[in-house]
Amino acid sequence: MENIKHVFFDLDNTLWDYRRNANITLVKLYEEFQVEEKYGFTFKEFYPFYYESNEQLWADYRDGKVTKDELRARRFPEAFAEMGLPNFEHALEFERRFVDEVTTSNYVVEGAEEVLEYLKDKYTLHILSNGFEEVTHSKINGSIVKDYVQTITTAEGAGAPKPEPLAFQTSLDKAQAKAEESVYIGDDWIADMIGATRMGMHAIFFNPLNENHMWIEEVPVIEKLVELKEYL
Ligand SMILES: [Mg+2]
Repeated sequence: MENIKHVFFDLDNTLWDYRRNANITLVKLYEEFQVEEKYGFTFKEFYPFYYESNEQLWADYRDGKVTKDELRARRFPEAFAEMGLPNFEHALEFERRFVDEVTTSNYVVEGAEEVLEYLKDKYTLHILSNGFEEVTHSKINGSIVKDYVQTITTAEGAGAPKPEPLAFQTSLDKAQAKAEESVYIGDDWIADMIGATRMGMHAIFFNPLNENHMWIEEVPVIEKLVELKEYL
């Protein structure tokens, strides 16, 4: 890609390993609240219900169908209800503790450090995340990501989630970057790729789980972060 000066990254599951870090915290809370002992469901049985509830609510948040507060009020109650525990008394406590503690693990995605080291001298690096303001800063400050990025923008701070133009424009303004001199890297086709290309930014789709996705000719697809070196 030519004439690129700025590289913008999504955070969750692009640089910061949300799946892994969330899993560590969930296992801990599940044991602490003795869910298996009291109700007979193993963590392995619980996890898919949480995953589905979390993914769906984040997609709804991205699409403007639920607010941050609704997402937080519904994520665990709905996961437990779907599993067959509609009256699980610790569901909201789970949410509060989860958000407080998820950033105590700060694993980054495989290849993140290598690729950030490679990119940092060639470009100015930035974060644009759909996450909440406070949690996003904790994730960055608790991980190696803080050593590489110049600006951080969240959906909450911008007042709109990706793919809305306001999220990208806020991030570009903060970075003092032009869209055509910028590339966006993320793992959500709609929020990240549709959002970035509609702004006139370049885009690279990170698809580590090799999931089905749409396709646009000018958007390269990578499955490992180190493949970014082929394009940048
Ligand atoms: Mg992501």
